[in-house]
Amino acid sequence: MRVEALVSRTTTEEVAAAVLESVGCPMGCNAADEAVATGRDRLHGLPGTFRVVRCGRCGLIRTSPRPTIQTIGAYYPEAYGPYAARANEGKETHGFFARLAVALRLDGTRQLVPRMRPGAALEIGCSTGDFMRKLRRRGWHVEGIEPSAQAAGRARAAGFNVHTGPLETAPEPDRPFDLITASHALEHLHDPLEAMRRLRAWAKPGAWLTCAVPNAGSWLFSQFRDAWYDIDLPRHLFHFTPETLSAMLGRAGWRVVRVRTQPTLNGLMGSLGYRLEDRSAGRSGIAEALLRFPESPSVLKKFTLPLWFFLLASGQTGRMVVWARADQPM
Ligand SMILES: [Zn+2]
Repeated sequence: MRVEALVSRTTTEEVAAAVLESVGCPMGCNAADEAVATGRDRLHGLPGTFRVVRCGRCGLIRTSPRPTIQTIGAYYPEAYGPYAARANEGKETHGFFARLAVALRLDGTRQLVPRMRPGAALEIGCSTGDFMRKLRRRGWHVEGIEPSAQAAGRARAAGFNVHTGPLETAPEPDRPFDLITASHALEHLHDPLEAMRRLRAWAKPGAWLTCAVPNAGSWLFSQFRDAWYDIDLPRHLFHFTPETLSAMLGRAGWRVVRVRTQPTLNGLMGSLGYRLEDRSAGRSGIAEALLRFPESPSVLKKFTLPLWFFLLASGQTGRMVVWARADQPM
């Protein structure tokens, strides 16, 4: 089902009234920008046209003009994927295979959790708490920050301490963290540099910051531009490359330890779907099938394994996972 039908009238009215702001490069560059894409909200079909520009000095790519921190909520309708209800939400199995998956780190935490003794963790953009459950099962004491009141409420119902609101307004935590993690969240922040500085101040000496973000340095962005699945306008306010994300983390006092390609075919399939949609004026069964791929069951994905290996080996899935450490003086 396409999501347009689920977007309420109120949301559309809110969006029409949304105020846009033009912003300079947060790295303080004060240089001329280069326009790299102009696009619309393809995921939910909400109104507006948005420009994506690259800073002429540091290369950081940002959406500008963009919705303000007060109006961006209108672009996250209830149907927004990460907040949608899942059939198995909150179901935690404790059988032999579930315990084996945890022991072998096959529980979906390997990408974002370094090998270390469990301690205090914070998840930025924790949504309904799926990943926090996995961390808790591994022995972590975990809390979250989530701007969606509805999603945060469901995470709280699962027993987690969750601040509702953007990271920019979250209060100081009671104690510092050993691990701060953000899966596809940093690109949604209005002031990611300030956010990374806040997180650095909340980190224990030697703590980790691990994050997954789209990679605008990838072939998918240069090839598809505004039809790149992971450009996701106007929800993605920054479009990082390994270089620009590392520079920002470094400025905030984090030392980048590694940058890896995130294994996924969603970016390629979704981008092909958008491109086909453009060519067929929105009437393509193949485009619809491609756009359903990111949410499709794993059986279908097995047939695409060879392509998956090729993209991963060439570093071109369009998403990356970055690990940084708080082990240098600020
Ligand atoms: Zn810049």
